[in-house]
Order: sequence, then C-alpha cells, then structure tokens
Amino acid sequence: MAVYGALDIGGTKIAGALVDPGGRLVVRSSRPTPAREPAEVLLGAVHAVLDDLSAHAAWADLACLGIASAGPVDTVAGTVSPVNIPGWRRFPLVERIRSHPRVPAHVTPVLIGDAVAMTAAEHWLGAARGVDNALCMVVSTGVGGGLVLDGRLHAGRSGNAGHIGHISVDLDGSACPCGARGCVEGLASGTAIAARALAAGWTPPVGSAATAADVAAAARRGDSIARAAYDRAAQALAAGIAATAALVELDLVVIGGGVAQAGDTLFAPLRRWMSRYSVLDFARDLEIVPAELALDAGLIGAAAAASARTAAGTVRSGSAAVPSPPA
Ligand SMILES: [Zn+2]
Repeated sequence: MAVYGALDIGGTKIAGALVDPGGRLVVRSSRPTPAREPAEVLLGAVHAVLDDLSAHAAWADLACLGIASAGPVDTVAGTVSPVNIPGWRRFPLVERIRSHPRVPAHVTPVLIGDAVAMTAAEHWLGAARGVDNALCMVVSTGVGGGLVLDGRLHAGRSGNAGHIGHISVDLDGSACPCGARGCVEGLASGTAIAARALAAGWTPPVGSAATAADVAAAARRGDSIARAAYDRAAQALAAGIAATAALVELDLVVIGGGVAQAGDTLFAPLRRWMSRYSVLDFARDLEIVPAELALDAGLIGAAAAASARTAAGTVRSGSAAVPSPPA
C-alpha cells in the first residue's frame, strides 16, 4: 500500500508523518524547531525527522512527499521565509529536503503554506469534505486562509492564495507589519484581541501572559470589555469573509486555530456581523463552522496536496484536486 510522506514546519515544532490513503497517520516523528538557530541547524532538525520516517518499513512505499510550512512560502521557487523562523529567508527547502539521502529520486517534494495545508485537510477529511467552494481559515497568533474552488484546492501561482489575514478592512487603520493598513490580522488575531482588551482596561488573571483564551474566559463570565474585544475581531473577520464570498461565491467557511476555540464567544458575533456585511442574495446566510482536524491538519493537508499533485503530474501547478475521502 502506498504511503504519503508529510512534513509540517512551524515556529515551535517540526512534525513528520507517513499517511495512508485513508488519511491515517501510520508513523510520526517530531523535533522542537530550533527557531533562533542558523539555517543549517534548522535543516538538521528537518533531516532528523526524515531519518526517523525513513527508518520505518513503510518508507519503501513512499509515493509522494508534502511539506506544509509557516509562511510566506514561494512554491514556484521552492523556498520558505517563515516570519517566526528568522534563520530561513528564501531558504531553498524543497531542494534541501530532496537532497536527503533517503528521499527517492522519483519523489519531488510538494511545498504548500500551512493555511493552505489546513484547507486541504479540511476538504479531504474535515468540515469542508464534499464542499466545492470553501474558505478555510486559521485564526490564532496570525490569521491565515486557503480556498477550495470548483472542488479543488486553489493555492495560487506562488502558493499564497486565500491570504485573508492581509485583506484591508479598515482603510485608514493601523499599520500592519506587512506594509499595508487595517488588515484583518491586525484586528482579529489572538494577539490583537488581547491587546484590544488590555488597552480598554481589562485585567488579565494574576500570573497570566494575557492571551486571547484569557479574554474568552472573561467574555464567558460576562466581562463587557472582553466581549467587545471579540466583537471587534468578529467584525473584522466578517468583513474579510464577506469580501471573499462576494468575489468567489462560497458554499462554506471553516474556521480553526486557537481563537476559534472560543466557540460562540467568537462565532455568535461573527454570524451577527455577517448578516450586516454579506447581504446580496448569492452571499447571504453563508454557513460558518469550526474546523474539525485541529492537531494533525498540517500533516494531513501536506499529504493530501502532495498525493493530488503527484497523481496529476503537475507538481508545480497552483491548483490541485484532493484525494477522494475514504469510504
Ligand atoms: Zn497586513
């Protein structure tokens, strides 16, 4: 039986797995990300994960290898420049993974961004299963997203399509680290929610670093400042989602990430704001649901995208079908 190799590279952990055609992880390995170390030390951690995976008997049946990475990524050049891994800037990750001695010559690694991987995973096995037009979002310390259009993952020319966190929803809003103003991420990320609550006078629990989860807990207890912070984030998300729905006609929106763990604290105001911003007939009453595949979405999505693109023989194409869900 074929297995799909998968790597998920984030700011805290480098995870790897061999995934079977039903989406089950049959082997897994991980290393902490040496995020402050030089490029070659970082690569050493990736190779160590590949050493573990390739030591398993199932490696002999490796059909493809997907790499989900924190972004930005450039899937044409095969490079990554993760914001939270400063040692890698335009780092040629695809080429350097291909140079691992046990990666077979016939396997071309397929690189995708982490939010696009989450989208591929939700489309294959999660909340967007069977849906032809979906926006999937990760709302955590940042805001990322990916698109399924006409039943296929739409990663875009360089792998960054669906980058909803950097749509401007506030024309003269605060400067964003990306260089623009009033981006969704600056209003709706967990960082933004905590900062907004603190600025308005909310007091975090003693000893806490003041996280969005703390603000959510306060909101559930009825704290009006905490509720307002989530309401503002929900408003920004709704404006970004409504713009996307107007552009491409969505059937479903899936939201994962730490901030989505707040549940109705986020989803209730989000649905309320959607009814204000998404009013045209074709975009009204858009269904918004939580993600289903929290922990392994990056690995499952990397495997899905790699198998789809390898099967299609279009490893460099920006658009890929997703494998059929298991029966
Ligand atoms: Zn921005």
